[in-house]
Amino acid sequence: MTNDPLKSALNVMEGVDTPGQINTELVRKLRTRKKKQLSVAEYLDGIYSGNRTVLSRAITLVESSLPGDQELAQEVIAACMAGRKGDGPTDKRHLSATGHRVSDISHPVTSIRVGITGVPGVGKSTFIEALGTLLTSRGHKLAVLAIDPSSTRSKGSILGDKTRMEDLSVDPNAFIRPSPSAGSLGGVARKTRETIILCETAGFDVIFVETVGVGQSETTVHGMVDFFLLLMLAGAGDELQGIKRGIIEMADAIVINKADGDNLNKAKAAKNEYAHALHLFPPSESGWIPVVDICSARTKMGLEPVWKTIMDHHETTHRHGYFQRHRREQNLQVFYETIEEGLKHHFLSGKDIAQPLEKIEQEIRAGLRNPYLAAHELLQKFFNGK
Ligand code: GDP
Repeated sequence: MTNDPLKSALNVMEGVDTPGQINTELVRKLRTRKKKQLSVAEYLDGIYSGNRTVLSRAITLVESSLPGDQELAQEVIAACMAGRKGDGPTDKRHLSATGHRVSDISHPVTSIRVGITGVPGVGKSTFIEALGTLLTSRGHKLAVLAIDPSSTRSKGSILGDKTRMEDLSVDPNAFIRPSPSAGSLGGVARKTRETIILCETAGFDVIFVETVGVGQSETTVHGMVDFFLLLMLAGAGDELQGIKRGIIEMADAIVINKADGDNLNKAKAAKNEYAHALHLFPPSESGWIPVVDICSARTKMGLEPVWKTIMDHHETTHRHGYFQRHRREQNLQVFYETIEEGLKHHFLSGKDIAQPLEKIEQEIRAGLRNPYLAAHELLQKFFNGK
């Protein structure tokens, strides 16, 4: 045994120094460097040519709450809404002084917007994956968006988890975008509406809007689509499925999913029950009689008829002129919502209002303050500068 520490097996030779990260400052800068902002024309050219990176960036712009981004986003949206019938975004002939075409807001009727709702676990993502793949295989271009105001995950809803729709997420004819991260339902709705316009301008002719949250979001989605599809399960009472009567009334089709294996007969029985129940509802303004059907998103049984129903509805409502009328009614809704949101934002971000707000909220929560009076006081302060 040697006493020479250098010759001992226990001696740990000092290794070569691991080099520090090459120019850490540069790496930090590269990581934090903001991408160069695109101009309105660059956004439009990218979106029109179907460039998915530019489309994604435009959606991120729409979702941003920075005032500068908001302004730019509005310009991009306005140009998308105006530009459909022209020769493209670089065609300046029809543009107003601000660069927007002002006369034509008929954008766009070549698309179909379908809302898809149902309780968690009913099979929405499996259904969207299966029906979506069928549609893209036929040459449709499909965008899948989600509404989930309850989500606090920074990247939005579970839709963000691409493995949920494995085939669609790698399908060149599909574009999946998670719900904008949490915000007020109104805010999320506006962003989703604008995202629909961007996707349609990029050439997506079928738009699925999925509700991930349960509750109010169904009504919101109903207000932005042409066709509202409710997925249900057989053998669970409506109460169990968390579905309120009002939501059934909004549905253009009720589709009972998981009609496979032992469940098939139950699904058939449920179909009859719902069809019967729907007869008791007054006919909708569109003149469309809601369809009840069964399907299996897993075995893909019944998907073809679901799409046929959507197409029938499309054709019928076009023929009656309801389709256009309905979209214009929705635009009116957008008009008021945008005003409401803008006023609220302006009101709440004012220095005199924003500062005492937290304290007032606490006092109301603690039962120390009358909410009516507190609101009134703030409004007076806002209007009269008192
Ligand atoms: P979501 O929460 O509504 O999006 O539901 P998912 O699509 O994630 O489906 C929930 C579960 O139901 C998953 O385990 C699916 O595999 C299953 N599922 C979905 N569709 C069907 C179907 O048609 N038949 C059967 N047997 N299972 C299904």
